[in-house]
Amino acid sequence: MRYSKTYGEFGGSYVPELLQPALDELESAFLDAMKDKSFTDELEYLQKTFIGRPTPLYYAENLTKALGGAKIYFKCEGLAHTGAHKINNAIGQCLLAKRMGKTKVVAETGAGQHGVATASAAAKLGLGCDIYMGAIDVKRQHPNVLTMQMFGANVVSVESGNRGLADAVDEALNYWVKSLKDTHYLLGSAVGPAPFPAIVREFQSVIGKEANKQAKDANLDVAAVIAAVGGGSNAMGIFSGFLDEETVKLIGVEGGGTGDNVGEHAKRLAPNSGAVTGIHHGFKSKFLLDKDGNIEPTHSISAGLDYPGVGPELAYLQQTGRLTMTSARDSEVTDALAFIAKNEGILFALESSHALAELLKVAPTIDKNKAVIVNMSGRGDKDIFITAPIFNKKEWVEFLQNEINS
Ligand SMILES: *Cc1c(COP(=O)(O)O)cnc(C)c1O
Repeated sequence: MRYSKTYGEFGGSYVPELLQPALDELESAFLDAMKDKSFTDELEYLQKTFIGRPTPLYYAENLTKALGGAKIYFKCEGLAHTGAHKINNAIGQCLLAKRMGKTKVVAETGAGQHGVATASAAAKLGLGCDIYMGAIDVKRQHPNVLTMQMFGANVVSVESGNRGLADAVDEALNYWVKSLKDTHYLLGSAVGPAPFPAIVREFQSVIGKEANKQAKDANLDVAAVIAAVGGGSNAMGIFSGFLDEETVKLIGVEGGGTGDNVGEHAKRLAPNSGAVTGIHHGFKSKFLLDKDGNIEPTHSISAGLDYPGVGPELAYLQQTGRLTMTSARDSEVTDALAFIAKNEGILFALESSHALAELLKVAPTIDKNKAVIVNMSGRGDKDIFITAPIFNKKEWVEFLQNEINS
């Protein structure tokens, strides 16, 4: 295991004094757990039986033929229980929380995907679960709220500030400070104060370990690995398995939204992002900030990619030249999603479709004997409320009206 609290100038822990002891406790519990075979054995058992690992490394034969370049492979995290990679981290941290003697987890969620994964993992492991969600997101993402409640979670609608993800983080942290004794804060991406980025990376590294082994077993000459980047957990998960193989190009894809103006995109590391180095939510990284240092609004068609900051390790890897960062516009993303669905019969999540948009650009430029791996961080079923109105608004509206009338 590779463990670090800082990544070059990025990372670290910038939190109120009251919280630091809880982070120190978490760090030592995590380092201790990872050395304990009974912990790692139980984690492996849950990964296999509950999450459904290993997920396949799938050869997209039709797509490879259609694009005429590198052999295309999908690492299918969308087949994991709850439909995305987020469960890898949620199960890992719930197990760690239990080991620390905690009886409850608290988490923030934006679109609700991390909330759903956390609620599921907490139900499985018998932990109490509070999910903090901005009131606007509670409204917009209500199907996820209902799913979390089915898992027994208590969803707290946050009415403060802009009633969005940042406010949910603040309120969840406020609750945590008051209940450190019995509650673990289950952070959902490779962001936040140390040791969270390292913990999330470790629990997601199973993606990269599996993909590397699966690629070796299939004798693949991997030229590139592509992943969508929100906070960076699925990307660090798969990249970590290939970091040491210098010939493998690592490509991260951010939400390019609809344009380069403030509020139109969610690029932090990609060209023309306008992001600056700053400290927010307890860590140092690249953030979208206005001239007063306040967080700027973002937009992406995928709710999972609109965080205004990015994981510190990714910021560092880009700075050192190991990682290439790019972005995909909303329209490129839906085009790529539709193209792959038709050609391959697989529906990607909107987040993961950002990686597909990049794939469509790079695969034809790479030699036929080489392979490109795309991390399918999630499946697209959850996005039907966004994609259906784009692809067939009339029938979608008719369906909703019928549902209401019936
Ligand atoms: C949340 C989410 C992401 C973005 O989060 P990362 O931490 O950057 O991985 C990407 N894909 C899916 C399917 C998600 O649910």
